[in-house]
Amino acid sequence: METDVLVVGAGVLGLSSAYYMKKRDPSRKVVVVEKLSGPGQGNSAKSEGGYRNLFASETNYLLADSTIDWFHHLQEDLEYDIGMHELGYLWLLPEDEYRERRTPFDVAKKRGARILEYSSEELKQMMPDLITEFDDSEDSQMMGLEDVEMGVFGPNCGSVDVDRLVKAYEAEFLKISGEIHYNTDATKLLHDPVEPLGIPGEPFVWQESRIAGAETSKGKILAETTVVACGTWASKILDPIGFDCLMRPKKRQIFAFKDPKLSRLLNTKDFNEDNKLPVTILPTAGILLKGEVSEESIWLACADNLGRKFELEDDPKPEDDYYANNIYHALVQYLPCFEDVRPANSWAGQYAINGFDQTPIVEASPGLIYVGAASGSGIMKSDALGRIVDAVNEEKEYATLYGGRGFKCSDLSIANRRVEKETLVV
Ligand SMILES: Cc1cc2nc3c(=O)[nH]c(=O)nc-3n(C[C@H](O)[C@H](O)[C@H](O)COP(=O)(O)OP(=O)(O)OC[C@H]3O[C@@H](n4cnc5c(N)ncnc54)[C@H](O)[C@@H]3O)c2cc1C
Repeated sequence: METDVLVVGAGVLGLSSAYYMKKRDPSRKVVVVEKLSGPGQGNSAKSEGGYRNLFASETNYLLADSTIDWFHHLQEDLEYDIGMHELGYLWLLPEDEYRERRTPFDVAKKRGARILEYSSEELKQMMPDLITEFDDSEDSQMMGLEDVEMGVFGPNCGSVDVDRLVKAYEAEFLKISGEIHYNTDATKLLHDPVEPLGIPGEPFVWQESRIAGAETSKGKILAETTVVACGTWASKILDPIGFDCLMRPKKRQIFAFKDPKLSRLLNTKDFNEDNKLPVTILPTAGILLKGEVSEESIWLACADNLGRKFELEDDPKPEDDYYANNIYHALVQYLPCFEDVRPANSWAGQYAINGFDQTPIVEASPGLIYVGAASGSGIMKSDALGRIVDAVNEEKEYATLYGGRGFKCSDLSIANRRVEKETLVV
């Protein structure tokens, strides 16, 4: 098969990239291959679907804020029900941390992000299940628990149903005659000379060469541009051609709870129109909770940085004892309603981590564009990244993000990278 563009991977980043490249020129042939049987079944499906426009770095703010505006457009104007709920993001902060984090929050506010603040007294009223003050008990001393001084709240943040989001991208792409081949594994990138001489062993070091497509489980696909959007699997096809994607995979787990004891917490009022628990970040151990509107449950994730190894796993499994022997002990200190409550369901996926600046990468080399290393925030930046891939393919200096803002494509490249350090990491 021959095509103008081959996209490897039908996760949220592959599909948004494919869509924008096809939309720019519907006469162009854009083919997506995906080793699994449907869209978004890799790590996109494992995601929590959280989105926020509160980032310290301008880059992350632009990527996320414009993507959130696009989500609204998809849901409200194009009438795709992507299960968008403006639950808000609530950071529960002890005094020191509140002082430390003031600057990034203030910066976000100056850019136009809405931020509200709640005192510990107000939080007690709004979340009666939350403990904000700790006594001198052995447990709280041992765990170094600090009183919650303030709640910093981003009301325009929330959550989408990722399965519906990837299906919306898939539907829009198919509508303009995009082609997707599921159950098709790209096994090898084709590295060819630009001017073939027909001599065995090409390309030689003195020849100009480019990526010219891929071998797949269904045969060879020749392409002018090959976009590698393989998420955590990217290095499997990029390493053999000597392309360093600067990404390492690490497990991340989600535990879902459906216990009547948690009903008041789940149905926390006053933060959002759904009257559900916002995405709430506890002060200790990177524990994050959110009310999941679609299934009346609470989802819990944990930053999980301590000793968790980097390792590519095709089908990572959640660990019950990670919850029971680890997260649980801190969790019940802040939210005693979790006492003796066990997860009803759990699953695990993998983050594609760029450990250097935790910001996505879009890098081009002849015939090839790599998009990935979204470092746990690829859903909320998906639309912007798709548009940037398209602009890179057009060799444009700037991409136009949804809403009209410009983004300098090389800022996300490896060669000419220019991104700020992100300090609002969840
Ligand atoms: C537990 C968890 C929670 C998360 N929570 C959030 C969140 O709240 N908000 C947020 O924004 N992000 C979150 N993320 C991150 C988010 O899921 C990712 O950033 C995003 O899904 C990355 O999209 P992708 O398209 O790069 O990867 P994927 O969705 O993994 O897509 C890559 C695709 O490529 C396919 N593929 C790989 N190799 C090949 C090959 N050789 N041939 C053919 N196909 C191939 C794979 O099968 C896969 O479908 C979370 C991730 C996890 C694991």
